[in-house]
Amino acid sequence: MDRLADLGAWMRVAIVGGGWAGLAAAVELADAGNRVTVIEAAKQLGGRARSVDLRGLRLDNGQHILIGAYGETLRLMKKVGVDPERLLKRLPLEVRFPGCQPAPFRLRLPRLPAPLHLAAGLVTARGASLSEKISAARFMRCLQATGYRIGDDCTVTALLDRHRQKGKLRRYLWEPLCLAALNTAPERASARIFVNTLRDSLGGERAATDLLLPATDLEQLFAVAAAEFIRARGGELRLCTRVGSIDDELSVVGERFDCVVLAVGPVPAAALLAQRPETSAIAKVLADYRFEPIGTVYCAYPPQVRLPFPMLGLAAQDDGQIGQWVFDRGTLCGTPGLMAFVLSGHGQWEALDNQALASALDRELAATLSSRLPAMLWQQVIRERRATFSCRPGLRRPNARTARAGLWLAGDYVCADYPATLEAAVRSGVAAARGIALGGSE
Ligand SMILES: Cc1cc2nc3c(=O)[nH]c(=O)nc-3n(C[C@H](O)[C@H](O)[C@H](O)COP(=O)(O)OP(=O)(O)OC[C@H]3O[C@@H](n4cnc5c(N)ncnc54)[C@H](O)[C@@H]3O)c2cc1C
Repeated sequence: MDRLADLGAWMRVAIVGGGWAGLAAAVELADAGNRVTVIEAAKQLGGRARSVDLRGLRLDNGQHILIGAYGETLRLMKKVGVDPERLLKRLPLEVRFPGCQPAPFRLRLPRLPAPLHLAAGLVTARGASLSEKISAARFMRCLQATGYRIGDDCTVTALLDRHRQKGKLRRYLWEPLCLAALNTAPERASARIFVNTLRDSLGGERAATDLLLPATDLEQLFAVAAAEFIRARGGELRLCTRVGSIDDELSVVGERFDCVVLAVGPVPAAALLAQRPETSAIAKVLADYRFEPIGTVYCAYPPQVRLPFPMLGLAAQDDGQIGQWVFDRGTLCGTPGLMAFVLSGHGQWEALDNQALASALDRELAATLSSRLPAMLWQQVIRERRATFSCRPGLRRPNARTARAGLWLAGDYVCADYPATLEAAVRSGVAAARGIALGGSE
């Protein structure tokens, strides 16, 4: 990225979309000496990872989890002046389902060098049989031996069946990891992308497996500092400006640019790309995408209510299970008594009204903690209906570079190696910026 700055050959670049992908592209391009203009339809930055004001509190549109393997996200956070070690609570990976029957499930990776941490974590896991542990270790070894390549893509369910993953470790480790990382149920999720996430987390360095749980709202994690960084380098951020077309000579909202980075989600991207013959083929690919929702249910209890660990799995007592994970925002973000329940992907929860949903989660939390909870003070449900693309086997992803000279794509869906995550969004933005730096206006 230093080449352009060295040559003094700066360009005017429009970045359409101020989510994490667009901001990542803008930060890199501004840092390399280009004149960037970020154009965002909403009245705030952050896109699908944004802050919201609820009941006098600064919260998020959805509880986000980062992990140590989010290398590019952490690098860019540091670049714009955010200290990840201060604003993210770093914890060794721990998966706890205290309400699981007949015994609680718990897997914790100790602070040992890789791969010992994984071996020790599996050996000491509670609630799983020895044969399941051996089978899980074999599964990881087998993936490693094949360089985490699985041949033809298939569903995660088929992959786990093929590797004879059964019982508690399948139910409380592999399947929840799949849903958390891909936001797609194992029976529909891409095994290839799931294996990529295993490669870069459990298969990587010990620190890559750490949980990084936000200790502040999402805007403070990146968007606020990124915006300051961009402005300080002569860039501009325009909010409340929806781009309806990218016209001849790369004109956006009446201004000409040398390059445009289209960093909107797949649906608005398809609409914009369908307008020109050079990009209509990508629009067709995106039109076939399906989406998965995420529900976040904030339940406020009296301040003394705390979880034994900031992130707990809600164990299935029966088939009527609704919730998946609950986060203690009191411990994490200093709002005592506030719990955030996460509901990933399509499921029964979508059919419930907000009151019924909060009541069901309240009962599941009480069952998980084996204790009576005091009455809730308030609850608030946020439903993101198109939270992520559905990460299915063989899903086609477009290249960052398009057939239209000077037009680049960024967004979580462009990062072909990963599911829809912050890291995918940031990587895609960085990749678009690098492409432009290497002569991408042609
Ligand atoms: C509830 C929820 C929970 C999640 N949890 C996690 C998690 O735990 N960990 C994780 O890593 N990821 C998580 N994700 C996924 C992560 O938030 C996304 O992958 C990431 O934010 C996508 O960023 P993006 O920049 O690619 O797209 P977006 O965030 O969608 O950004 C696109 C931007 O473009 C703007 N835009 C759209 N059309 C136009 C237009 N015509 N003109 C101008 N601007 C336009 C939009 O307003 C938006 O700001 C979660 C997502 C949700 C919704």
